[in-house]
Amino acid sequence: MRRKLVAGNWKMQGRQASNAALLQSLKAQTADWLGVDMWVAPPAAYLMQVAGLLQGSGIALAAQNVARENDGAFTGEVSAGMLVDCGCHAVIIGHSERRTHYGESDALVAEKFLKAQEAGLVPVLCVGETLDEREAGATAAVVRRQLDVVLAAAGVAALAQAVVAYEPVWAIGTGRTATPEQAQEVHALLRSRVAQDDEAVAAGLRLLYGGSVKAANAAALFAMPDIDGALVGGASLDANEFVAIARAARVAQ
Ligand code: PEP
Repeated sequence: MRRKLVAGNWKMQGRQASNAALLQSLKAQTADWLGVDMWVAPPAAYLMQVAGLLQGSGIALAAQNVARENDGAFTGEVSAGMLVDCGCHAVIIGHSERRTHYGESDALVAEKFLKAQEAGLVPVLCVGETLDEREAGATAAVVRRQLDVVLAAAGVAALAQAVVAYEPVWAIGTGRTATPEQAQEVHALLRSRVAQDDEAVAAGLRLLYGGSVKAANAAALFAMPDIDGALVGGASLDANEFVAIARAARVAQ
């Protein structure tokens, strides 16, 4: 059985005081029941702070990005080894905001995926189509291409130690969620693509949905057979909302 996972992507938001308040509330509300995996991905500047605050909580730390390179003369970058050193368990790779605003190509995303795994991090590979691509009927082709580049670079076995998040770009931060059926259709397609290479890896692969997930829509999404949790942006900054999403995941577990 695939254990449900809710991962919070804080994006470039928070300060030490608000981080501490958010985590205090998350820890207090999840201390005695968690039963699903919960990860939080703060900005790089706060990884050490959050790592300290998460000690003993059962909530794991993730980063939002990683450098393609190892340590060296790469001003402003943060290497996979540094993320491990800060206590990270996982890292988000290929988020659409990085693909769109920072020009990250499929090839670069695949390199970052490999770099993360080499360092022992669990990559959360984000795939998803834009609104134009969906309206042009290209959703399947786009997400398959994004996944195939990583499969070609890393091999299917690498997905046994990874998570894939389907995040339709038109649903991120817009309040417009994919319907559970729309999300399920793409999740099933992703799983069957992996199954072509390795059925066991496909059966164990956790596929998250991301795009305006909140407490009000989480249960319907998690009821779908191939939706194993959520990558949550805005709602992960509100402890009550994020905990309610985790509760919905646990009910669906
Ligand atoms: C995200 O940033 O990955 C995301 C899904 O954001 P939101 O939940 O705010 O749409």
